Amino acid sequence: MIIKTMQAESFPEEYSALVGKKELPKKSKLLGLRPRLDEDGLMRCDGRLRYADYLPYDVRYPVILPRRNWVTKLIVKHYHEQRKYVAGTNHTLSALSTRFWVIAGQEEICQWEKECAECRQQKAKSASQVMAPLPNIRLKMPLRAFADVAVDYAGPFVPIQGRAAHFGGVHESMIKAAKRAIYAILKNADITDEELLTAVTGAEALINSRPITYQSANPDDVTPLTSNHFLHGQIGQIG
Ligand SMILES: [Zn+2]
Repeated sequence: MIIKTMQAESFPEEYSALVGKKELPKKSKLLGLRPRLDEDGLMRCDGRLRYADYLPYDVRYPVILPRRNWVTKLIVKHYHEQRKYVAGTNHTLSALSTRFWVIAGQEEICQWEKECAECRQQKAKSASQVMAPLPNIRLKMPLRAFADVAVDYAGPFVPIQGRAAHFGGVHESMIKAAKRAIYAILKNADITDEELLTAVTGAEALINSRPITYQSANPDDVTPLTSNHFLHGQIGQIG
């Protein structure tokens, strides 16, 4: 109901054209979304996914939300917070796009991320040391490259385990994401084994719903791929 009123206020010409079953104004920004009204009077995108019967109704016909509107902001906030503040912009956008089509959604989410107090606190850097001026010896006239050289005949350094510390940067970044997710869920609480298992499962759901591909700005494109598509054949929802 609130969304309907907001749509009528934000897109008055389009909305009244749809109610009167007339064509949209020629210069309407919504033309590309092919808006139509559903039985509740909500304006939804009518994209090319119409015949994708296997997708839920909301994915095929997402509800159109205007930019810079308090209702849109609250919905963006909800999707952002549902992901415990650890999801990136693309992740939040792809989750949001399973129900809503926000005009310039990427910008709307970025804007919220900047305003979010929790995120600002998490990303805040500790105060950095003021560095003393460099000593004289570091500031002598520079020499040409290779003016001072040495040769190491010892060969490459091979650790005994046979594998270097930064063996797979991709895995490490996923582990970092998992740790951040678990930390975001638990904070510093004392927990039981079962609670830890729940938190890990939550983190797993969060990470497996990460989009592998990009959420496109075109409503005709299919939803971005996530790990859950391969594991369960669907995008997977949180909460
Ligand atoms: Zn945040």
